[in-house]
Amino acid sequence: MEVRLLRAADVRRLLPMAACIDLMERTMIAVAEGRAFVPLRSMLVLPDKRGVMGIMPGYLREPECFGIKLLSLMPQNKPPHYSSHLGLVLLFEAEHGQLLALLDGASITALRTAAASGLATRLLARPDAADLAILGAGEQAESHLEAMLSVRRLRRVRVWARDPAKSEAFAQQQAARHGVAIETAPTVRAAVAGADLVCTVTKAREPILEGAWLSDGVHVNAVGSSMASAAEIDGATVARARLFVDRRESTVKEGGDYLAALRAGLITPAHILGEIGEVANGSKAGRLSAADVTLYKSLGIAAQDLAAAHFLLEQARATGLGQVIDF
Ligand code: NDP
Repeated sequence: MEVRLLRAADVRRLLPMAACIDLMERTMIAVAEGRAFVPLRSMLVLPDKRGVMGIMPGYLREPECFGIKLLSLMPQNKPPHYSSHLGLVLLFEAEHGQLLALLDGASITALRTAAASGLATRLLARPDAADLAILGAGEQAESHLEAMLSVRRLRRVRVWARDPAKSEAFAQQQAARHGVAIETAPTVRAAVAGADLVCTVTKAREPILEGAWLSDGVHVNAVGSSMASAAEIDGATVARARLFVDRRESTVKEGGDYLAALRAGLITPAHILGEIGEVANGSKAGRLSAADVTLYKSLGIAAQDLAAAHFLLEQARATGLGQVIDF
């Protein structure tokens, strides 16, 4: 059995952000239309709560394949030695169930999550949205900056991180990488004041963003609190917004910000207006007016990982990249 191994460098080379945003559009439409089977993920919590292993299986009908993403999340890990998410995507073909590829899970996670937010921004943000605030300065902050630059012409970028030295380092490195000016903000409130686009990409478990600080017309991608017990944005933000999600079933079980707003009586389950794939296929209306606040709640689903893995394998075969292992 021949299995192709694709490392992080291969992932970055073979799947540019713009192509990944288009791939996520096709994938999220497939999810919304029932052409993917994505059971809820499982989490193995280590006995001393030192970390967790995320177990995310899934099946796609087109292109037909199935597989699993296995990631360890160890909160004490710090770059550059360790990524915040370490692991693999395993891709299988659906006729004989042969393993086809082993792919780096950290780079796929960073890329596909930001690309899904890029899709949501393309669909929900005002066409003239040009002022971006990024909350957090880690891996997702990097990939989200790239995604936002792919879908909107930005004239101002601000970053906030709880450690000012880290926001400064992020601003310098990413400004050099993308050739854009990046300001650092001393507080979350200063970062989001007047912003048209906000990406929350921190590991905060309690809200760092208050709805009262947001301007009319803003679009928010809420990415960080991807578990039921964490809420990165407050209930007022959720209640103020037209809310769209990657997957309804995941959100009602695992969407910490959504669940906190629901428990507080600020919203009802009807507050979820649709999945992003339903906006993409035109069956649900996204933004209705320039003054609407729109919110995309991202939890991440295995269909995104498998679609990326399948695309990467095809590109690798076509270009000869990656290492072929005889199992
Ligand atoms: P990183 O560890 O690379 O970055 C985390 C960032 O959050 C850092 O800037 C860190 O600051 C900051 N942070 C940590 N704790 C707090 C806090 N209490 N208040 C404010 N800021 C804080 O992680 P990633 O960028 O890879 O991931 C960011 C978040 O996104 C995580 O919560 C992760 O679970 C989530 N995620 C969601 C996905 C989805 O599909 N929705 C997919 C992948 C990740 P410092 O350096 O000072 O610690």
